[in-house]
Amino acid sequence: MLTIRTVGELRRVISEARSGGKSVGFVPTMGYLHDGHLALVKASQMQCDVTVVSIFVNPTQFGPNEDLSVYPRDFPRDERLCHDAGVTLLFAPDAQEIYPPGFNTFVEPGELAKPLCGAFRPDHFRGVATVVSKLFNMVQPDVAFFGQKDFQQCAVVRRMVIDLNLPIEIVTVPTIRETDGLAMSSRNWYLSEEERRRALAISRGLFAAVAEFQAGERSAKELLAIAKQHLKTVDRLQYLELVDADTLKPVESPLHRPAAMCAAGYVGSTRLIDNVMLAVSAQ
Ligand code: AMP
Repeated sequence: MLTIRTVGELRRVISEARSGGKSVGFVPTMGYLHDGHLALVKASQMQCDVTVVSIFVNPTQFGPNEDLSVYPRDFPRDERLCHDAGVTLLFAPDAQEIYPPGFNTFVEPGELAKPLCGAFRPDHFRGVATVVSKLFNMVQPDVAFFGQKDFQQCAVVRRMVIDLNLPIEIVTVPTIRETDGLAMSSRNWYLSEEERRRALAISRGLFAAVAEFQAGERSAKELLAIAKQHLKTVDRLQYLELVDADTLKPVESPLHRPAAMCAAGYVGSTRLIDNVMLAVSAQ
C-alpha cells in the first residue's frame, strides 16, 4: 500500500494504474476507521482493480460550534487497517493541500440538502459536496462507495454526480452495525458506557418501526409514533422523520413508495444519526 500526501503524486500514481487498464474504486472517509468504512473498502475491492481510500477531516463540512477540533484521529492505526485490508492507495492530504490559500469556490447542493440534517447543519452538505467533488476530480474514480448510514449524504452526492455530469458510478453500501444494533460511527468513541447504552434507543426505535411496517402498518404517523416511544433516552432529539427515499420530502400515508425513517439527536454531547429503509415497492 502506498500512502500519498499530495494531489500531484496521487494523479501520477493513478494515471499509471489507469494506463495499465485498471479500474479505480474510491472510498472517501474522515478516518478513525471502523468496520463500516472497511465494508466500503470490501465493496470496492469486489468491483474494482485498484481501491483508493482518502482520509481527510474536512473543515468546510463542520459548523462553527461543531466537533472539528476534537474529531477523533489516529492515523497510524488507520494506515495499518487500510494496509491489512489490502487497500492499494491511501490518500491523506493536509488541509492546505485541499484548501490552498485563496480557495473560494464551493459546490452548492439544492433541495436535497435542506431537510433532515441540513435543517440543523446549514452549510454541512455544501462542505460535503465541495470536498467530494474535489476528491472526485483528484482521484477520477470509476466507482465511488458511500455508506447508507449517511443516507442524506448519499442522496446529495448522487444528485451532484448527475447534475455536474461526473462520469462516476455511486454505490451505496448497507449500514454496518455493532452486534446490539448501534450503527457504527467514528463518533461512537465519544460515548461513555452509560451514554453508549442510551444511544441504543435510536436503532431500537427504528427497528421497532421496521417490524411494524413488516407487519403491515402503512401509516406514517403510526410508524413514527412507534419509533418515538423508544427515543426517550436520547437527550436532544433533532429529528425523527419518515421521508420519501428519492425526494427526502415527508411521505404521505398510506406509504406507497420507498421511504426512509431517519433520526438524529444528541446523547450527552455526541450527535448521532441513523436510518432504516421501508421498502414499499413503487407503483
Ligand atoms: P465518515 O468517515 O464518517 O465520513 O464516513 C466515510 C464513509 O463511510 C461514508 O460514506 C459513510 O457513510 C460510511 N460509513 C460510516 N459509518 C458507516 C457504517 N456504520 N456502515 C456503513 N458505512 C458507513
